[in-house]
Amino acid sequence: MTVVKGADVVKEMMEELRQEVARLEAKGIHPCAKIVRVGDNPSCIAYGKGAAKKLESVGIQVTYATFPEDISQKDFLAEFRKINEDKDVHGILLLRPLPAQLDEKEISRVIDPRKDVDAISPINMYKVMIGDDTAFPPCTPEAVMRIIDHIGIDLTGKKVAIVGASMVVGRPLFLLMLNRNATCVQCHIYTKDLVAECKHAEIIVVAAGKQGLIRLEHVSPGATVIDVGINIGEDDKIHGDVDFDAVAPVTEYITPVPGGVGSVTSTVLAAHVVKAAKLLYEN
Ligand code: NAD
Repeated sequence: MTVVKGADVVKEMMEELRQEVARLEAKGIHPCAKIVRVGDNPSCIAYGKGAAKKLESVGIQVTYATFPEDISQKDFLAEFRKINEDKDVHGILLLRPLPAQLDEKEISRVIDPRKDVDAISPINMYKVMIGDDTAFPPCTPEAVMRIIDHIGIDLTGKKVAIVGASMVVGRPLFLLMLNRNATCVQCHIYTKDLVAECKHAEIIVVAAGKQGLIRLEHVSPGATVIDVGINIGEDDKIHGDVDFDAVAPVTEYITPVPGGVGSVTSTVLAAHVVKAAKLLYEN
């Protein structure tokens, strides 16, 4: 059994990203992300700070646009379009949740898909579906794929159970896996026999948000288990969706929580900004 640490994946990615940023800088392209915030939601502020720190650590320039909590949809869209059109901005990170008067669906249709590094545009989801190389998949499922690549698993023909079917994790992950020729089963709250579906799988990825959902009985010996879940337990500590202590000994590879998928996600965002800068100005 090998515990796959997110930090090892991040280290590998950071080295590549710093080199790529230096290469772009040498050509006069300065990768830049705009973090857009409406109001003063503390979780948005905290998330924005964390993202900025990660982006800056690979040499990406971060600029900010903040708007009052009560901005109207019309005024916000007018400002957002200016950011969209700003040639110095390569990636846009819109912090959510947004105040109730703002229509996120409409905004997601306005964002330039080429700058949509956090994957809110339906065009990006379509690109993920057809396996287009210029897509920005949502960061968390891509983090799962980076971990799979770090381990060195060839997904061709592999039996994969994905537990969770949300638009941000489970569904796009299904498509990313399918694009690599895996045979996937998408499980969700209405799945009748989760044990049987998981037991069948060589790789189980869990993103359900339910502490202890995956137990020893779900996992076949030699399987790889990737835990996306983040739950605050009764002990006030962070736990995944997998009963790690029971499951780990029978796995070939397993990711911990914390210190697994979550730590890779923000590095994927940085990779997306660099990719956006490259696609916008190198071709
Ligand atoms: P969500 O609530 O939008 O979706 C949960 C999915 O799991 C749904 O499809 C639901 O049907 C399924 N599900 C719930 N209970 C189930 C059960 N008992 N059996 C089978 N399926 C079940 O959640 P989400 O946004 O996809 O997030 C899932 C988890 O991943 C959460 O714990 C979240 O905190 C975590 N997460 C982690 C990261 C990261 O970077 N590590 C990023 C996003 C989300």
